[in-house]
Amino acid sequence: MAKQLQAIRGMNDILPGESAHWQALETTIRSLLTGYGYQEIRLPIAEKTELFARSIGEVTDIVEKEMYTFDDRNGESLTLRPEGTAGCVRACLEHGLLHNQTQRLWYAGPMFRYEKPQKGRYRQFHQVGAEAYGMAGPDIDAELICLTARLWRQLGLDAVTLQINSLGSSTARAAYRERLVAYFSARQDELDEDSQRRLHSNPLRILDTKNPAMRAVVAGAPLLLEHLDPESAAHFAGLRALLDSAGVAYEVNPRLVRGLDYYSQTVFEWVTDTLGAQGTICAGGRYDGLIEQLGGQRTPGVGFAMGMERLVAMLAARGTTGADQAPDAYLILVGEAAQQQGLALAEQLRDQLPGLRLRMHCGGGGFKAQFRRADHSGARFALILGEDEVRSGSIALKPLREVQGEQRSLPQNQLAAHLRALLDA
Ligand code: ATP
Ligand code: MG
Repeated sequence: MAKQLQAIRGMNDILPGESAHWQALETTIRSLLTGYGYQEIRLPIAEKTELFARSIGEVTDIVEKEMYTFDDRNGESLTLRPEGTAGCVRACLEHGLLHNQTQRLWYAGPMFRYEKPQKGRYRQFHQVGAEAYGMAGPDIDAELICLTARLWRQLGLDAVTLQINSLGSSTARAAYRERLVAYFSARQDELDEDSQRRLHSNPLRILDTKNPAMRAVVAGAPLLLEHLDPESAAHFAGLRALLDSAGVAYEVNPRLVRGLDYYSQTVFEWVTDTLGAQGTICAGGRYDGLIEQLGGQRTPGVGFAMGMERLVAMLAARGTTGADQAPDAYLILVGEAAQQQGLALAEQLRDQLPGLRLRMHCGGGGFKAQFRRADHSGARFALILGEDEVRSGSIALKPLREVQGEQRSLPQNQLAAHLRALLDA
């Protein structure tokens, strides 16, 4: 026998048993985003490598070691997108969507990062993200946060908390960076290898370490929040006031930084302790410098991305089944004449009852075996077309889920009306 192939490590199949969760989640998110006035933008899965190097930052984890980068047949360096914001900004600049206008956009799809695969952390994973451009105030930051808070409510996820912080302006951050380097330089022997390397390239990221041995030294580090520039402090106070008035609970986490370099001022994360180590389900913030960095006019931007695998895991753990996918009716076809007529009958029924979930038996077999399949499918009704029915132009209808489900025989031309009445009841 030929060797059986397997999927790439860290890249998952989403099987039929799981896809209902995904669909239910996607449907809820889509209608919520539409309700807040966000429009979908669909972006390529690969971009020129330079885009990510210039936006995410050369010394971030993503660009240093997580990107799927390859040369195409022309020798051009391309990268499978590790996140959606860079491509979204690139597309908006390219198509002139940012000039003298505001935009509320969202995207969804797979992202790729060469990480160590583990529960909640994969090499292909999915994000839904939202981005808002051209709005500088904390009102839009607060709107994005309210939108996500509403999503958790709609999904019935209550074990989630919101953490917020401000990274200040780039000048405030530069001053803070020096204090941080001084602090960590004096404690070099307490730094792990990663942090030693980051000390001069990207010291803020040391605060984001996942290494428990680093906790103490990080806890003593000076806080940016205490050295904010006045404008950023006012923005942050404005955000807090808006969240307070909207009744959104939050925790100020002065050590919250993000893994991408382009953030400034507001950053936030939604976290849960129900998923183990990978507890961040949604993360975002403001990136007022990014658009200019990518060659556009200086334009404010703010957005978030949520990790779909982690959300699906939370929904699955709660035991919700997602959308019910059982058929309304299962069409049993016994004998050659019935098999011959069955497809046309099914098609007619689908015309008459749009949206009907009808599963037609294919592959022949006797009545008993087909009936077992019908029952197993979870269908509410079995429709039975046998030799007698074909001869008399009738069809038998048997309720499968009711205790005293009597089988009855109907003229075929009354089936649609009958079924509609039963399904509406
Ligand atoms: P982390 O610090 O956990 O690596 P990050 O800062 O790299 O997270 P973002 O780039 O902000 O994460 O991505 C937003 C969200 O996407 C995360 O909060 C998480 O829910 C999800 N996510 C990120 N990377 C992965 C991954 N490798 N597998 C599954 N989900 C992911
Ligand atoms: Mg990461």
